[in-house]
Order: sequence, then structure tokens, then C-alpha cells
Amino acid sequence: MKAIRIEQHGGPEAMAFVDVAEPSPGPHEIRVRHHAIGVNFIDTYHRTGLYTIPLPSGLGLEAAGIVDAIGEGAARFELGDRVAYCSGPIGAYAEANVLNEGRAVRLPDAISYDIAAASLLKGMTARYLLRKTFRVEPGHVVLIHAAAGGVGQILVQWAKHLGALVIASAGSEAKAEIARALRADHALVIRGDQDFAPRVRAIVKEGVHVVYDGVGKDTWEGSLDSLRPLGMMVSFGNASGPPPPIAPGVLAAKGSLFLTRPGLAHYTATVEQLDETAADLFAVLESGAVKIAPPKRHALADAAQAHRDLESRKTAGSLVLKP
Ligand code: NDP
Repeated sequence: MKAIRIEQHGGPEAMAFVDVAEPSPGPHEIRVRHHAIGVNFIDTYHRTGLYTIPLPSGLGLEAAGIVDAIGEGAARFELGDRVAYCSGPIGAYAEANVLNEGRAVRLPDAISYDIAAASLLKGMTARYLLRKTFRVEPGHVVLIHAAAGGVGQILVQWAKHLGALVIASAGSEAKAEIARALRADHALVIRGDQDFAPRVRAIVKEGVHVVYDGVGKDTWEGSLDSLRPLGMMVSFGNASGPPPPIAPGVLAAKGSLFLTRPGLAHYTATVEQLDETAADLFAVLESGAVKIAPPKRHALADAAQAHRDLESRKTAGSLVLKP
């Protein structure tokens, strides 16, 4: 079968489109024949080595497709079931992948393969961030960076659905306009502007209850300065590079702030947590409370171009690869 492989960490050119042996499922594993593959910013961290992985390696954590082989003792799915997964093993940029059956979820009929691959990882992330890390309730003021991005678009819509006042930020006016169209109450263009906290406080003088920050280095200081006392800084990504180290005393000085650096894997560690998180996501998708824009499609062979577009901030919403 065809797959993307990297021999060494590096730029998008490190990704090779090659022939590899088709994997067979072992005990309690299933093989998923991919119809759509999700592209996530974390895939670029695996490629560059910001997050180290054993090499050589495949890439990609997320795909949707059909169960076409079942290993010994696996009983969660039947041949032909429509499923999706997003928590490894790394190697979703391929025509098929093998994984433990407990890492896949069944797709409702109403959710297409493209929409599943565009939204499972990003939407389950939005769900745990908004419902578990900091439980957003009506009246909360939330600041969401990269609001027109894959995770960002879902966060904005879901936070509005929960009754929050949403202040969005984005890197261009066109992207801010996308956030407004998704019902963000305010959308700031902050590209190159580290000092955005005064603009946030011009909207809500006390500051925000929670910041959802997947941008990292470039928004770090401004995000801390945008929080009200006892507010929570949720640093969940590094699109602009990892944030700097912080001394605990800084959190006291800025208002007894809470700081967390969460990851999806810990919030979906058990099958029950995975199913509960996915069910909540599918419910907001099926009700229309959260809409996923049709993802930009690239051929699997063109995965490197998808990475170039994502890293150069050209994209809005989600990208998928088609095998
Ligand atoms: P996005 O579609 O959001 O793409 C990243 C966006 O970040 C860009 O479009 C851009 O938006 C913004 N950005 C700001 N500065 C830079 C920069 N220097 N280089 C590149 N982009 C920049 O990606 P995803 O939706 O896949 O992921 C969003 C974030 O969420 C990532 O940091 C990712 O690692 C994180 N994540 C974390 C998870 C977790 O559980 N911890 C799970 C899933 C994702 P703009 O131009 O508007 O600034």
C-alpha cells in the first residue's frame, strides 16, 4: 500500500510517498481502510522533531474509513463498520492502518468520512477543553486564539453554544471575519501584536475567565495579561513555538492564576472516556450547534503541501488527505 514515511526529522521535504507492506491486525486490533485522513498541527511537530518519535516513522494520528480486517479476540466492531480514530499509533498518512480496537469509535450515519477526519481529533480536543479542563458556563468570558483554525473554529462555536461571551483572535482580517461568522462576539487581528491584553480589557475590563491558547510562544505574555484574578490559562499547543518556562510566582503576581498544559490523550485514556467524548462531539455536530466547514482536500501523495500550507498560516478550518 501507499504511505507517507520520514527517515529523518525535517521540513515538509522529509516526507516521502512510498510503498510499504500492508499491516495485518494482531490480537485485539482492527485494520481500518482509510477514506479520509486528518491533518493536524501535531503532525508537523512529529515531522520536525519538536515532539520526538522513533525513526523511521509514518505520520498522522487521525483517519476515517471501514473496518476491513479484525484480529483475534477483537469484538468491538464488525467487518464493514464505519469508524474513525485519532489517538495513534502514528501512521494514519497511509491507505490503511492497524490499531487497538479500543482506540476507534463508530461513526454515526450522518457523519461523512471527510467530516469525521476533519473533526474527530480537533472536536474531541474542543470538547475536553470546554467541558473538562475548564467547564465553560453561560456568562463566562473566553479568549480563543487562532479562532479560524481547525480546533479554533470548533471552540468558537461550541463556546457560544455553551453561552459564553467569546473574544476570538486571528492572524488576519479575513480570518477574523470567519470567527465573526461563527458567532464570536469580538474578533481581534493580533498578528505580530504581542500587546493585545489592553484590547481584550477594552472589551471586558476585568479580563477573561479562561484563555484557550494553541498558538504558544507568540501569545503567551498577552494571554496571561488578559486573565482576570483566578482565571485559567489553558496552553494547549505551540503553533508559533513552545511558550517559555514560567516561575510559579508569576501566576500569583498576575492574580492567582491557574495554568494547565493539557493533552487529548490523558482525557481519552479509557474506552469509556473516548466514547463519552466522541458521543458529545457527534451530538453537537448532528444538532447543528457546531458546523464543520468542508475540509480542504489534498491527495495523500501531496501531504507535504498540506504541511506547507498549515505551517505558513494559509489555511482556515481543517485539511484532509485522500488516499
Ligand atoms: P490550526 O488550523 O489552528 O493551525 C494553526 C494556526 O495557528 C494557524 O492557522 C495560525 O492562525 C496560528 N498561528 C499563529 N502563529 C503561528 C505560526 N508562527 N505558525 C503557524 N501558525 C501560527 O491547527 P490545528 O487546529 O491542527 O491545531 C491548533 C493548535 O492546537 C495547535 O497548536 C495544536 O498543536 C493544538 N492541539 C492540541 C491538542 C491537545 O490536546 N493539547 C490537540 C489538538 C491540537 P492565525 O493565522 O489566525 O494566527
